[in-house]
Amino acid sequence: MKIGIIGLGLIGASLALDLSSKNYHLVGVSRNSLTCEKAKEKGIVKESGVDLALMKDCDLIFICTPIEFIIPTLINLIPHLSPHAVVTDVGSVKSSIVQQGKALWSNFVGSHPMAGTANQGIDSAQKDLFQKAVCVITPEHDTPQSAIALITNIWSLVGCEIIITTPQIHDQAVAWISHLPVIISANLINSCQRENDQNIKQIAQKLASTGFKDTSRVGGGNPELGLMMARNNKENLLHSLKHYQQNLEELINDIEQENWDKINTLLNTTKENRSKFL
Ligand code: NAP
Repeated sequence: MKIGIIGLGLIGASLALDLSSKNYHLVGVSRNSLTCEKAKEKGIVKESGVDLALMKDCDLIFICTPIEFIIPTLINLIPHLSPHAVVTDVGSVKSSIVQQGKALWSNFVGSHPMAGTANQGIDSAQKDLFQKAVCVITPEHDTPQSAIALITNIWSLVGCEIIITTPQIHDQAVAWISHLPVIISANLINSCQRENDQNIKQIAQKLASTGFKDTSRVGGGNPELGLMMARNNKENLLHSLKHYQQNLEELINDIEQENWDKINTLLNTTKENRSKFL
């Protein structure tokens, strides 16, 4: 089977690496010709270039570009596709992409591997990045079963546990566990930076250790990705943020009122729920 990967960055090149090692014939297309050369030199793909015509004989194609280029890429790809080709994307937001993608190509199935690092680009490609990661597959009611089965099979082969749900439920769920944490973590970093007293700020910076590293990690990641998540999942992110704001206001009030028993109960519950949740 010939597999095409468009967008040879962290996710695309990591996936190509894993699939090449399983003896699939990998064809890569990226925006930058140097990236395409590198992918061939490193043995990540067999053929590569900037021309989407390279995808003409592929049976399965993964669009791994930044979110906002996924649909424009699919539109430019369609004239080169063979009629049986199955196309998927790896975008972190699904509703708008799946709705448009499915209307453009009936064999389009959205997917989203819940794996990544803070790095980007082909040099950050990592073997086994998807081992033990969850991959969400988001078909619509009329998506061909054969296309769903093919995508499920390939993500399972690189080590993913599969969850199948609707694009809408996916977007609401990732707003809570992925997009909201990015915004909260970014706001944490920003709030610390805005401390007016330079002496306190400097000492705080010296004292910052594992706790601050953990809570600030996602807010200090790829800014382009964070922005695209917010832009493309705006309503669900706002819904989660407003709930968060309400809870924060309640918490501020409880601290002001010295409702220590209530706060103690909350912290005990969150301790217990965190391990259950994860
Ligand atoms: P990335 O490392 O920046 O990779 C994207 C690559 O796509 C870039 O390196 C760029 O390569 C190439 N590219 C950009 N525009 C293109 C275009 N118009 N046509 C072809 N290639 C293009 O980003 P990533 O983290 O892999 O993210 C890619 C996708 O995966 C996004 O949709 C994101 O939502 C999704 N995702 C990311 C994560 C994560 O944690 N990072 C997790 C799951 C899913 P060159 O310019 O070098 O050619």
